[in-house]
Amino acid sequence: MRTITKKKLAEPVPDVLRSRGLRLTNPRRLILEIVRATDVHPTALWVYQRARRRAPRVSLGTVYRNLRGLTNEGLLKEMADGRGLGRFDGNLSDHCHVVCVSCGRISDLAESLDRSLESRVAARTGFTVSHHRVEFYGRCPDCVGKRRR
Ligand code: ZN
Ligand code: MN
Repeated sequence: MRTITKKKLAEPVPDVLRSRGLRLTNPRRLILEIVRATDVHPTALWVYQRARRRAPRVSLGTVYRNLRGLTNEGLLKEMADGRGLGRFDGNLSDHCHVVCVSCGRISDLAESLDRSLESRVAARTGFTVSHHRVEFYGRCPDCVGKRRR
């Protein structure tokens, strides 16, 4: 399992790329910076809109391609929100998510789940379990409030 220490997370983006022997193209660095700088778990479109402020000629296709590449290389994590949109996370530490099925908001859950779950799954299936992913779905406080008003 990949473990990222606090120190590693604070490392400037170019060093992270260089240490993994990746090409240092500008859109790639910019896109990684944008996703790592936010905790909104953005969509590709959100990243594209941010990226255009600093690189007006970047295309949506370039953003998609780089998000995909960065995810394949393990520098970003991808998940689906309750509405089927791909969402990206620059926080590589072990954590769970709470997803609002109404507005798509995704919050991090600091609480770590019962570790014995992994060994129970391993024992039942014969798999070597390296990690797990848990997402909770529901309505965020804002959306619950709107409905009651
Ligand atoms: Zn909501
Ligand atoms: Mn997250």
